[in-house]
Amino acid sequence: MRKFLIAGNWKMHKGVGETSAFIEALLATNPTSVVDVVVSPPYTSLPTAAMLLTGSEIGLAAQNVHWETSGAYTGEISGVMLTEIGASWVIVGHSERRALFGETDRAARDRARAAQEAGLKVIYCIGETLEEREADRTFEVLESQTDGLGALDPSELVIAYEPVWAIGTGRTASPDQAQETHAFVRGCLERAFSTEVADGIRILYGGSLKPGNAHELLPKSDVDGGLIGGASLDVDSFSAIIRAAADCAAGELT
Ligand code: PEP
Repeated sequence: MRKFLIAGNWKMHKGVGETSAFIEALLATNPTSVVDVVVSPPYTSLPTAAMLLTGSEIGLAAQNVHWETSGAYTGEISGVMLTEIGASWVIVGHSERRALFGETDRAARDRARAAQEAGLKVIYCIGETLEEREADRTFEVLESQTDGLGALDPSELVIAYEPVWAIGTGRTASPDQAQETHAFVRGCLERAFSTEVADGIRILYGGSLKPGNAHELLPKSDVDGGLIGGASLDVDSFSAIIRAAADCAAGELT
């Protein structure tokens, strides 16, 4: 039985002050331990977040990591640097990294490998563009984006399926579309690992997930939580999604 994971990707939002206020408010909601919860502030807010989250079960993720441990890589941060300040997760291969910063599958895999070697758990993002979906190339794209993941440690790996056309657009995959695609991704993971191992890997949905649609998407059998952008910036909406996942885990949603 896979435990739900609700992860908030704050992108380039929330400096130190806003991060403190958000985390204090989130902790005050006393989030359930039935669901794993992760927040991902910008790099500069990570030490503050780590300090405030000490002793809580909420995980802390960075939004990227370099594949080398140190060196002449201006502007980059290594996995060891992230664990040193208390991060335990990292998001890799987000579509914004791919589209805006030229991230390739190869680079994403290298980042994920280095992150795991440094002791970080990885949220590995994949997803097709609207053009690819309309050209009926979704499965082909996902197959190539998951190619080579078999080299990673599956016990420290979470996949985030994020259709690019649904990110920050207000458009969401329908629950059936999400289930169909997640089941396909699980098949890719079976080929990369084994059926048994793939069955234990969480596949998150990402793309305009919010309190209003969480109750429909989360009950799908291969949807194991969410990677949330916009709706993770507000404590009330993020907490509502956590509660929806808890309801779902308790079998209260079908
Ligand atoms: C994301 O960027 O990972 C994301 C899912 O964003 P949003 O929820 O805003 O669509």
